[in-house]
Amino acid sequence: MTLPRIKVLALGGTIATRPDASGAMQMGLGADDLVAAVPVLATLAEIDAETVSRVGSHSLGFDQIHALAAKIATLQADGVIVTQGTDTLEETAFLLDLLVDRDIPVIVTAAMRNPALTSADGPGNLLAAVRVACDPWVRTHAKALGVMAVMLDEVYAAGDVLKTHPTRLNAFASPQTGPLAALVEDRVVPLALPVREAMTRARAGIGDVSSAKEQPVALLWLGLDEPGFMIEAIVGDRDQLGYRGVVLGAMGGGHVPERSAPLVTQLAERLPTVVSPRAGGGPMLRQTYGGPSSEIALRKAGLIWGGRLHPLKARVLLETCLRAGLGRDVIAEVFDAFG
Ligand code: ASP
Repeated sequence: MTLPRIKVLALGGTIATRPDASGAMQMGLGADDLVAAVPVLATLAEIDAETVSRVGSHSLGFDQIHALAAKIATLQADGVIVTQGTDTLEETAFLLDLLVDRDIPVIVTAAMRNPALTSADGPGNLLAAVRVACDPWVRTHAKALGVMAVMLDEVYAAGDVLKTHPTRLNAFASPQTGPLAALVEDRVVPLALPVREAMTRARAGIGDVSSAKEQPVALLWLGLDEPGFMIEAIVGDRDQLGYRGVVLGAMGGGHVPERSAPLVTQLAERLPTVVSPRAGGGPMLRQTYGGPSSEIALRKAGLIWGGRLHPLKARVLLETCLRAGLGRDVIAEVFDAFG
């Protein structure tokens, strides 16, 4: 029986660390090391391992993920596994989902516990990712599943997965939708297919962004009584401090503090500005509350309505739309599809 050909691309992260002389964990392991630590992989797949970088995911850049997506686009493989750090996995997986158009499983995995610790989770997560990539249900539905994250024996959709804890072993979850599948013994148990209409529309609207330039997007989280000084600084600067778009982590169903509402309106006149729920995702209100700082007024004032995406994912989507050269109205349509 021929085994599926699985490409493992290693970017770095805790899964790829090793201790230095002081005992501090440093980036160091490559893709071959990660694969060699799990000998059973050879019975499941024909693995081809490649080290792409050795960086913590907190230091990854948009351009690196665009280059990774271009590499994945041309790979001769039956499945692709990206190993990286956990810190930005919820963003990189979503960006890959926007950029990669393949009908093979593309999976991102990582580790919360480093290789020097007892019960490090990296080897188990890599094994689980390979099992998922080789699974017949996953392979049949690869396009419908989109890019997946596999952590602690659960499979998550890239658009929904969040890192919900900084240190705990079970740090990943899809709070809005739950996992797509679970691993039990050596089986993948399917649970759900993601709703992909909004992603499909977003990807069609975005098109090819392979040669486009970085478009910095500010993420401003609005807290109790926010005076709006940061917004004022962006609005008051001739070049908007270098930003090309803004995501506001807004209150409730799409509200901002009344004292900053005039500034938020001015911001939306200067730059594409997306309102996204600081509650961590979920559909927002459109026509319930009146007053100058609620959704009816903000939508009339030209704020782009973020839909059910988490603000971190909204920022990734806005950056990608801006790279694609989309104007405000088209960007608003892309976000509108997310509810
Ligand atoms: N800072 C690390 C990273 O994201 C943490 C991890 O991998 O869990 O690369």
